[in-house]
Amino acid sequence: MIDADCIFCKIVAGDIPSTKVLETERVFAFRDLHPKAPTHVLVIPKDHYANTAELADADPALAGEVLNAAAQVAAAEGVAHDGWRLLANTGANGGQEVFHVHFHVFGGKRLGPMLS
Ligand code: C5P
Repeated sequence: MIDADCIFCKIVAGDIPSTKVLETERVFAFRDLHPKAPTHVLVIPKDHYANTAELADADPALAGEVLNAAAQVAAAEGVAHDGWRLLANTGANGGQEVFHVHFHVFGGKRLGPMLS
């Protein structure tokens, strides 16, 4: 499923350029345009789901693939040993701005408190 108006669907399709970090059959990972840590990668399912709840409900196996890919990204970025953060803003109060589910992988520095 693709949403023609979705910016992340366009990134997966290659219609909007991105810096790819990892790609599997169903998962895509690319560098965040506005990094908030030395490592800041977004991991997404290629299919369009609006948020974490929708993904988990529709395809739990795919949700697992996305988590697995996030761990692979952390390892490939060299941040797995020292620790990293996985964050999925969900909905307006969660701070979600792009409504194609995505998991932020942050690492490469000591991260501060999560909530603000
Ligand atoms: O979790 P949230 O929806 O707030 O995060 C969206 C993220 O997508 C932001 O960190 C923003 O920098 C990133 N982004 C991007 N490339 C785009 C559009 C947004 O990396 N073309």
